[in-house]
Parts: sequence; structure tokens; C-alpha cells
Amino acid sequence: MAIKLGIIGAAGRMGRRIGVLACQDERFTVACAIERPDHPGQGVDFGELIGLGKLDLSISSTWSTRLEVLIDFTTPEATIKFLSSAQKDSVPMVIGTTGLSASQLDRLKIAAKDIPVLHAANMSLGVNLLFHLVGQVAAALGDDYDIEITETHHRFKKDAPSGTALELARRICAATGRDFNNCLTHGREGREADRQPGTIGMHARRQGDVVGEHTIAFSTLGETVELSHKAHSRDIFARGALEAAAWLVGKNPGLYNMLHVLGMQNTPPT
Ligand code: NAD
Repeated sequence: MAIKLGIIGAAGRMGRRIGVLACQDERFTVACAIERPDHPGQGVDFGELIGLGKLDLSISSTWSTRLEVLIDFTTPEATIKFLSSAQKDSVPMVIGTTGLSASQLDRLKIAAKDIPVLHAANMSLGVNLLFHLVGQVAAALGDDYDIEITETHHRFKKDAPSGTALELARRICAATGRDFNNCLTHGREGREADRQPGTIGMHARRQGDVVGEHTIAFSTLGETVELSHKAHSRDIFARGALEAAAWLVGKNPGLYNMLHVLGMQNTPPT
């Protein structure tokens, strides 16, 4: 039996690609396509919206059918609202939305006591491999290498720096003993802007339709080592979200990430 999937943010850039790929994937039936109540697509057939022809599935503002898993790519406020409903209805939830505050992230942990929740700032295999490697490289190179993270995204992206760039910094901090809350330098400007030892430089560029690029540069006197990832299309995130959704069904309650899905995380869910 195909997994009954609900897509939240169904008319968004990510929601539409997840819809197309889910309809082409035998593992899933798209059972619900959810958008904000004032979205002009309310009541429109989801299949027609995503260019697949009529699916007899109208875009709605909530779900009224039994779902087996939800995928959410919306805004932090919407994510938290739908997380409460998912918790009430015991539906596992994959969350791709970025820019969640510390208290919103705590809310994920609370919900994960009752339902399986997977949150990943980046659902691509390549970026998750970077998450795995970046701490090892930082620790191996040591304190004399200055670390600068640069990320580039399309002009419509709301949050900066990207959730992915912040997660890369978090992993470097965990591997090198830096204090994440006190070691980031966001851009530089002015006369007293010289580099402080142990800091991680963070630079966000917003331009055109760039899907997502991240580079971590480690430089000392004489050489630079760079780890870099470039997303060519949103489909890598949409495919990752669908893999995560298929994986999450039937799991115990807990807060998971993509490294769990990819078998690269040894630690249990939180
Ligand atoms: P988008 O603006 O194109 O789509 C978001 C959709 O959510 C919109 O259609 C909007 O109407 C809908 N929405 C907003 N509030 C809602 C509500 N209350 N109820 C239902 N729907 C609501 O944005 P996008 O490019 O699709 O990105 C969405 C989020 O996903 C962002 O936070 C982005 O940073 C993140 N993102 C994550 C990954 C990843 O791999 N984790 C990849 C790409 C984007």
C-alpha cells in the first residue's frame, strides 16, 4: 500500500517539486495538499497546479483524511502550527523549513516525545556528507586555519545566513570546542574589522535564482583547503524529503535528521 502523504506549503517552490516527484514515486499517494487559508490556490486542483493534469485533489488549508506522513516546507510560524496538529493526530512529520528560532527548535523536541519528527536544514545527500566531514577537517587542520563560510542563494530567500551554513558552523564548533553562540562573525565592515582568532566568518550572498551554494574555506599562511557544495536544482532537496518521509513512517517518536536516514549518524535521535 502506498504511503498517504500530506504536503504543507504545497504551492511553494519546494511543495510543487515534492508534489511532482511524489506523484511519480510508487511508494507515495499524495492525499493532501495544504496551503495558507488566504492563498489564491485554495480549492484549485493540485495536479493542475503542478502541471500533471487533474488529480481530484483540491488544495486546502488543513487535512481531513488519515495521513501516514507530512512534509512541511513553509515558514517557521506555519511549521509550529502544523506540528501541533501532527502531534494531536499522531502523524510523523518531515520538516524542511529553515530559520526556526531556539524556542521553535525546542518545540520540535517536545513534539518528538510523541511523534517521529525529522528536521533537516538541508535534505541533499551531498550537503549531509559535508555535515559529516566538516568537523573532521576542522579538527584535523587545527587552530591556525582561519575558517570562513560563504553561502549563496536566490533573491527570494528570507532567512540569512542559511540554515545549512549555520549547521556547518555548529558542526565545526562541536568538533573543535568553539562556542557556537560566540564565535560567528557575520560579514565585516569598518576600521576595526580585523579577524579575531578562533572566529568563524559567515557570509551570505543573495543573487538571482541560485538554488544554493556553500563553501567552507580553511586558510593558513601558504594554503587554503575548501569544501564546497553546489545544488543544481531543488529536486535534490525534494528527493531527500521524500526519502526522509518513507524512512520516518513506522519509526519510534524522536527527533531525527538526514544523517539518520543516510545511516551516517551513530547517535540516537534526541
Ligand atoms: P516558498 O515561499 O516558495 O514556499 C513556501 C510555501 O508555504 C508558500 O506557498 C506559502 O504560501 C506556504 N505557507 C506559508 N504559510 C503557510 C501556512 N500557514 N499554511 C500553509 N502554507 C503556508 O518557499 P520555498 O523555497 O519552498 O522554501 C520553504 C522553506 O523551505 C524555507 O524555509 C526554505 O529555506 C526551506 N528550504 C529548505 C530546504 C531543505 O533542504 N531543508 C531546501 C529548500 C528550501
